[in-house]
Amino acid sequence: MKKIDQALNNIDRSLQRQKKPQTLPFEEYLVLLSRDPARLLRNVFQVFSDLIQSHIRELEDEYEGDPESIHYIAYDCSPLFVEETDRPFFADRLFANRLVALANTLQRSAQQNKIYIFEGPHGSGKSTFLNNLLRKFEQYANSPEGMRFEAVWRLDREILGRFDERETSLLLNRLSQMLDKTASLQNDIIQAQQRNHESTHIVEVPCPSHDSPILVVPKELRRSFIDDLFANTKHKYEIFTEKEYEWVFRDQACTICSSLYEALLDRLGSPAEVLRMLHARPYRFNRRLGEGISVFNPGDAPAREAIQTNPILQSRIDDLLRDSNRVRYIFSRFARTNNGIYALMDIKSHNRDRFTELHNIISEGVHKVEDIEENVNSMFIALLNPEDRDNIENFASFTDRTEAIKIPYILDLKTEVEIYRHHFGRHIEDAFLPRVLHNFARVIIATRLNPTSKAMLDWIEDPKKYRLYCDENLLLLKMEIFTGHIPEWLTNEDRKRLTARRRRQIIAESEAEGFKGCSGRDSIRIFNDLFSSLSRKDQLIDMTTVVRFFTKTHPELKEQLPEGFLDSLVRMYDYTVLQEVRESLYYYNEEQIRNDLLNYLFALNFDPGSRVVNRFNNQRIDVSDDFFVTIENRLLGAGIDDEQRLAFRLETQKEYTARALTQEVMVEGRDLSETELYRRLYERYVARLKEKALDPFLENENFRRAIKDFEGPDFHTYDRRIREDVTYLISNLCDKHQYSKKGAREVCIYVIDNDLAHKFGSAS
Ligand SMILES: [Zn+2]
Repeated sequence: MKKIDQALNNIDRSLQRQKKPQTLPFEEYLVLLSRDPARLLRNVFQVFSDLIQSHIRELEDEYEGDPESIHYIAYDCSPLFVEETDRPFFADRLFANRLVALANTLQRSAQQNKIYIFEGPHGSGKSTFLNNLLRKFEQYANSPEGMRFEAVWRLDREILGRFDERETSLLLNRLSQMLDKTASLQNDIIQAQQRNHESTHIVEVPCPSHDSPILVVPKELRRSFIDDLFANTKHKYEIFTEKEYEWVFRDQACTICSSLYEALLDRLGSPAEVLRMLHARPYRFNRRLGEGISVFNPGDAPAREAIQTNPILQSRIDDLLRDSNRVRYIFSRFARTNNGIYALMDIKSHNRDRFTELHNIISEGVHKVEDIEENVNSMFIALLNPEDRDNIENFASFTDRTEAIKIPYILDLKTEVEIYRHHFGRHIEDAFLPRVLHNFARVIIATRLNPTSKAMLDWIEDPKKYRLYCDENLLLLKMEIFTGHIPEWLTNEDRKRLTARRRRQIIAESEAEGFKGCSGRDSIRIFNDLFSSLSRKDQLIDMTTVVRFFTKTHPELKEQLPEGFLDSLVRMYDYTVLQEVRESLYYYNEEQIRNDLLNYLFALNFDPGSRVVNRFNNQRIDVSDDFFVTIENRLLGAGIDDEQRLAFRLETQKEYTARALTQEVMVEGRDLSETELYRRLYERYVARLKEKALDPFLENENFRRAIKDFEGPDFHTYDRRIREDVTYLISNLCDKHQYSKKGAREVCIYVIDNDLAHKFGSAS
């Protein structure tokens, strides 16, 4: 028994700590207000905006200082949509920018009531978006950062002098019996009683519209009141001039608060006395109870009672005021989300009627509850499927009253890949060659884009010149712009033509894209198809596999792509990896070139099969025909026959012996690398490097096999030179292009087997 007592006491105590009464007298509220008006004087739009701004992190601007920048920035939205959610929502860069723009507008403007319609196709995740957003809004609005105060009256019986002690306790007994029966509805009064058990003189009347306490000060007195309150502070000017505070002077308290004020004023004779009964308490949001946030599904039946009352509280007010008609405690359900959020999940069936009702309220500006006019200042949000558009389009003045924010399928490559990673784990990347996973995402996104783009063709008049990097419809380039990347391969001229105006046009086109093609749900399913059937331990997924997947396994997707898109994608990929392999093979390395040339020259005077140490650099050389051929390839390039090669070798040897070595080095005392011959070979070597003439490597069967055997048991059987080149190539691919060793090996084989050096021979 003792333990039980203890346990109950502990619950009691922790509850008291949680529910620590935070109700403040109006005077104390004013002290807080004068210190921090920006936080305390916020309407729902500003709190919503603050939520977005505090939960979305601006990432680094990739093109800081670009004069044509349109501030199309990457944002990390995970605190808002991913962290601590049941199901994450992924906002791509385009949507995040729309949301931030909305937050900025809400922050700055003197808000008119509008319905914010988030329009997106099935499978775009918009209900997840709204659920996560509202959940974060609820948390934020109940936290110290997002908290606002609402008006609550504490009518003092002693002051109003109505009852004697005996009557009071009788009434309270009767009340508590009744309250037991209607516990949930009368929650507020119970709490008030618990808090006030030491002082039973108080009747607490909460404002059902959750009005800010400042609105209880009559509108005609408010200006001078605030003027006095902020006299000589830096805030005064802001409050009187900035748009975000306009509501403070414009809005009125609800009819209950204003009629209470009037009645009390009659009774007490002084506004100061009346305001002493006014208190402020935190506006508590609770979506499940519909307090501050209400969300309606299309299937939710209309409420039975449109008008809500509180007979007990009403009778107490009537008793206190000795008048049964002064204050009518009635309100509609809209009051409960006043200064909060009222949301419709899809505009169809019952929500269509709700939308009509909202539309009327907004058009009228007020809402009639019997003969009383109720203020409605809420953030109205609705989700819309494009096919339900008919349900709203026949409203007159439709566009004035609504603001559409598009929430289509993901169009930003990075986010699309992020979604796969989220669903299947970070390790998925290890199953693909670099770039291939992103190319999969490019195909998915291409199904969602419009096949032609006016903005892109306005910018790039001759897309064919970029055929190595891009498709003719410029979709691949457009995707880069959407992810915030301006490719290096653009000509200077086109880079310059990418003006702020053109950027805006391109981004604006995204408003009409992402409503068709592969949905978010489908892309996860399709990725799963690919990943579960084609990822293998021994081999990475390459472009050949991806193309086969889209042509054989899912031909319906290929049909949604513009003609030739897949070919362009493969061409772009092939060209890019060929460049990587070339660059890694030829990576400019003075030391390497120097040793190659010194070794070549020194070895010329030895027969194949000799093992010598080069006295110019102390390197060991296994002189062999392969050794000579490797370096001659670098000097002479492809397409040279053995005869020409031998002639070159002989001539070089002659010059080396007759002049460079005997004359310049021995007689003149120069270093071998300072001789004429060396200088000429060096220039030739570098020129070949630059024109990427070492492709013969890629045609050499020995080289191909050595790559396959790299770091395997047979690798040591290859010529030292080939081993060095292969090792060099692989380690450059790993260091400079982020390949794994396995990936580097596979991409080399891909380049060789697809004969890419030939394919792009003339084009590069
Ligand atoms: Zn009120």
